[in-house]
Amino acid sequence: MAHSKVVIIGSGPGAHTAAIYLSRAELKPVLYEGMLANGTAAGGQLTTTTDVENFPGFPDGVGGQALMESMRKQSERFGTEIITETISKLDLSSRPFKMWTEWNDGPDNAPAHTADAVIIATGANARRLNLPGEETYWQNGISACAVCDGAVPIFRNKPLYVIGGGDSAAEEAMFLAKYGSRVTVLVRRDKLRASKAMANRLLAHPKCDVRFNTVATEVIGENKPNGLMTHLRIQNRVSGQEEIVDANGLFYAVGHDPANALVKGQVKLDEDGYIITQPGTSYTSVEGVFACGDVQDKRYRQAITSAGSGCIAALEAEKFISEGDSPDEQKPNASVEHSVVEPAAQEVNGEVKKDPKGATAEYKSNPLL
Ligand code: FAD
Ligand code: NDP
Repeated sequence: MAHSKVVIIGSGPGAHTAAIYLSRAELKPVLYEGMLANGTAAGGQLTTTTDVENFPGFPDGVGGQALMESMRKQSERFGTEIITETISKLDLSSRPFKMWTEWNDGPDNAPAHTADAVIIATGANARRLNLPGEETYWQNGISACAVCDGAVPIFRNKPLYVIGGGDSAAEEAMFLAKYGSRVTVLVRRDKLRASKAMANRLLAHPKCDVRFNTVATEVIGENKPNGLMTHLRIQNRVSGQEEIVDANGLFYAVGHDPANALVKGQVKLDEDGYIITQPGTSYTSVEGVFACGDVQDKRYRQAITSAGSGCIAALEAEKFISEGDSPDEQKPNASVEHSVVEPAAQEVNGEVKKDPKGATAEYKSNPLL
């Protein structure tokens, strides 16, 4: 059984940024990149897209696959050991944390690996609807990320559709209104789930329409290799009436599923299944377990925000390990029951208080958080 100071589980921008920082800090991280974990290739969600145009440093854009290959090389260059296997089970009940892989457990079901600290960077998957035509026109008109894809030329001055009634749908529709000729939001119920403020902005937007009680039933488009979608069949759920509308873009905003299976029941999750981290940090409810990327971020879900949180996770894991290495403290390999991490600062009567160790909760004054 192998033991490492820190193991990273995942292979997207969050995982690789953490690996780059930890390997440069000479902590010899091991990164399990997965083998088609959650149905996605090692490298994560960006391996399923073409051009990434909003990752800094690439003025002409960069292929999603190429970007992830570069990150992987950078992780390896500084000494990260990358293992192409999926972690199938994780035991966080005591330290060192134990993990098992899908294909290669130790003898007698012993864990394949143990670690003093673990970084969870398993990502999330955008929900899909499996409509007829979806597979054919996925990324040829259909997207699950307006911020990522909205600016591409095929959507300019064209009728665009968004499915969903939550804050993401509202936000994405208003973002797309900058590019499309008109944006129509299809809401399956008779009301929006989005916050009142967001819903009001959407309903008042001069370039957006909302169609309630309406669902999409088929995506229609060009019948040729790499053909683009051109129309959408929609149905009113109350009257049952169907129509075919011009549509050159279809954006899903029907929620995401965070890849939380490994930690469910072991670390605190929010009501949607995202790992709860202390705001502005990567600290989970279990000491020594850090989370970064989309698995703990239900709001932004971008490559750059995942990378940023991967950096935070690495720096916090490094601090945790170095404190554990000091003579008075916990030695790696010793088995210690975990404790739940309490917030570093509290808000009292609207005022942010420092915690006894002096940490200031700067995030409380950040309007983005
Ligand atoms: P993810 O990219 O979600 O990757 C996590 C990976 O870890 C998984 O895919 C899997 O391979 C691996 N894994 C999971 N579980 C295990 C396990 N148990 N053991 C081992 N390995 C495991 N963002 C942008 O900023 N710009 C864009 O242009 C853009 N375009 C996008 C296009 C598409 C089609 C999609 C789906 C997303 C796009 N995004 C874009 C969003 C971006 O891809 C994500 O925000 C980002 O990849 C999240 O990174 P992450 O580190 O959380 O990990
Ligand atoms: P939500 O889960 O809030 O909303 C998903 C929407 O998709 C719902 O309206 C749901 O309908 C609809 N939906 C689900 N499945 C289907 C389906 N099969 N067919 C048609 N419609 C479907 O997800 P979001 O991504 O919008 O938001 C996630 C979280 O992130 C929320 O907490 C949100 O507040 C937050 N967020 C905040 C933002 C902000 O404040 N700026 C921006 C983006 C997200 P129904 O309502 O009927 O269930």
